[in-house]
Amino acid sequence: MTTAILSSAASCWPVFGHDWAIQRLKRTLQPGSGDERAVRLSHAYLFLGAAQVGKSTVAKAFAMALLCPHGNEAPCQTCRSCRLFVQASHPDFRFVQPLARSDKELIVDRQRGELRGEQAEGLIRDVALKPMEGRRKVFLIQDMQHANTTFANKILKTLEEPPSHAVLLLTACHRAEVLPTILSRCQIMELRPLDYAEVVHALQAGWQASAADADLLARLSGGRLGWAVDQLHNPSRRAERKTHLEALWRLTNADRLERIDFARALATDCDTQARFSLLETWTSWWRDVLLAQSDSSEACSNVDCQEQIAQHARIFRRKAVFAYLGTLKQIEGYLRHTVNTRLALDVLLLKLPSSKDRHS
Ligand SMILES: [Zn+2]
Repeated sequence: MTTAILSSAASCWPVFGHDWAIQRLKRTLQPGSGDERAVRLSHAYLFLGAAQVGKSTVAKAFAMALLCPHGNEAPCQTCRSCRLFVQASHPDFRFVQPLARSDKELIVDRQRGELRGEQAEGLIRDVALKPMEGRRKVFLIQDMQHANTTFANKILKTLEEPPSHAVLLLTACHRAEVLPTILSRCQIMELRPLDYAEVVHALQAGWQASAADADLLARLSGGRLGWAVDQLHNPSRRAERKTHLEALWRLTNADRLERIDFARALATDCDTQARFSLLETWTSWWRDVLLAQSDSSEACSNVDCQEQIAQHARIFRRKAVFAYLGTLKQIEGYLRHTVNTRLALDVLLLKLPSSKDRHS
């Protein structure tokens, strides 16, 4: 597996995994030589895939290759253009991200940010200008699912007929979250989660993770390398997972009042991202308990808590665990579509397996 990753496309592009997408993009970079594998370069690409799976990483590597004057099918990574790109100061590359919705939100929260009309106006003006360094300009628009209607409508014409020097790269999590008029103007590149072995290899080779960290994070990441790297580099995120698990262990023994108190705090003191992170941790936990109950402990994600998983697998009824996994999925949907948050969180806490769900 490791050999395959090292000897593949990933060795030329600064990207781990996503070989299929890279091979396809490489073919669009090959000069028209009559090679039947050559594919015409499109003026717009949309990268789809789960959050933090690597969409922007692949798009940036593609942008770097498009701008590099020496690269045939990969960026040379040594020329002036490639160096400027790595320093995030290439004059012909522009990265557009959702902005915080209000001035109070000083930090860009990707769950709540928005791509706004005025950003589209700046982008349209910039697209029309000739490149400064080479023959192309590349624009990366991140998280199209957060584009407001004005942004989406304004960039439609540019997407349809950009000047010949411009290539637009867009990212979004789900196809359904992007307007059909945008979809139809782009080449779609769907990125799949990486294999467990690819994530382990990337974390060790690219970020010097220990074998234990690489194993745990690869299992928890579900193939999203960006998520795993984020956890590796942010002790606070890892502490957050521990806090979510400790709360879960405590609350399975707590009474109704204590659970409602917890739901209230979750609704008032936490932001959207923290609530989704709790849901994700709790879901992976109960999935592991179910796996242990099905004699498949080797497939568990939370490998650093095997004793507690075994304990929950022993004491809780399988039926209750299965039902709660359904509740977690339902609550995630409610929170995404901003139904009454407080009510959804009350249900989350009140349905959490308790003493009545234990084997007698
Ligand atoms: Zn170069």
